[in-house]
Amino acid sequence: MRSLDLTEDENGKVIGISVSQSGMAQFMRCPESLRRLWLAHHMPDHPDATPWWVDVSALVGSAVHEWVHSVIEDFQGMRVEMSANEVHDWFWATIEEDEQGYRWGKYTREQVATRIDQGLAGATGVINEMYDLGYDFSDTKTCIAERHFTSSTYDRVIYHGTPDLIIMSPKGTWEIFDWKTGSVKKEWQLSRHGLQDKLYAFLAGEQLGIFADSFTWHWLNEGQVTTVMLDPDPTGWFRRIEMIGQSMLTMVEEVGMFTPWPLSINDWHCSPKWCPSYAAGQCQGIHPAATHQQQMD
Ligand code: SF4
Repeated sequence: MRSLDLTEDENGKVIGISVSQSGMAQFMRCPESLRRLWLAHHMPDHPDATPWWVDVSALVGSAVHEWVHSVIEDFQGMRVEMSANEVHDWFWATIEEDEQGYRWGKYTREQVATRIDQGLAGATGVINEMYDLGYDFSDTKTCIAERHFTSSTYDRVIYHGTPDLIIMSPKGTWEIFDWKTGSVKKEWQLSRHGLQDKLYAFLAGEQLGIFADSFTWHWLNEGQVTTVMLDPDPTGWFRRIEMIGQSMLTMVEEVGMFTPWPLSINDWHCSPKWCPSYAAGQCQGIHPAATHQQQMD
């Protein structure tokens, strides 16, 4: 399942969509960038398809997530914990497969290697600390790591996502954790704009029948922790999710996949730093062009 999938009837008419957490977040930043990503997956030769582009920082995040997952699975007797060297080997082998497709941003190779080590050390520290506090990683019924959840259909939209960790705390409450390796965000930004907490709490509630008390982001490289208490009324989480899902469905049905989608009103990332389409000389925020040009000037 990808960021956005369309379900069509036998005549090719869209009858529903399936959206991931990352697809919803991308839609909120820039609807057009999601349309271009969809084209890249389904019609890579289309002139609007996003050029293939992976940020090296995102790959650092994948390597660290893989490590944390292996540490937790080791508690559950599923497999042998990876070594730090194996994580590095996987990382550099992945880059070498397509050196041109990766963007290094502001980091050098040495700095990236250091970030991986910081992430691994931070993750090990967090798991050990939680273990010392009495969290039980060995019980797969109360420690659910990296499980993919798919919701029921709500007004022709299906939601899916993969929480990093859902675990019962030593107090008997349920908590959700998300591991981060990028820039630290402020608590108010997460409370106000955060989508992961609401979607994952909703999916955990629907699929596991549990109510999560809190959502915690751990910035493993920086040692920063931010916890938000979740609204005890699940309908509140769902309204926010539903609003985005239904907007995406409207865009698919009423604008279609072959006409540019309008910019969102809350944020945008029209720059070669954030957007692979922009960096390739495509799109460049054509809607509305005059306003965009003023912003760039
Ligand atoms: S250039 Fe701007 S409007 Fe176009 S896809 Fe990228 S972020 Fe979106």
